[in-house]
Amino acid sequence: MERAQCRGEDRALFFPSLGRDPVKAKVLCSICPVRQECLDYAVADAEIVGIWGGTSARERRRMRVVA
Ligand code: SF4
Repeated sequence: MERAQCRGEDRALFFPSLGRDPVKAKVLCSICPVRQECLDYAVADAEIVGIWGGTSARERRRMRVVA
């Protein structure tokens, strides 16, 4: 978490279900040094919602189907 690009950012950015545009969150994720670890964590837990590792919950569901 110390290295996360989203550290200190508004958490609501990462929850588009709250009516926020996820683009800013995805841009932060795209330059995050722990993106892969974050994505792996979120893919492993289907209960996690919001933008993690640059992906939405829907995108992660698709990844689980393909894997
Ligand atoms: S990849 Fe994960 S830790 Fe990094 S900015 Fe995105 S949500 Fe935060």
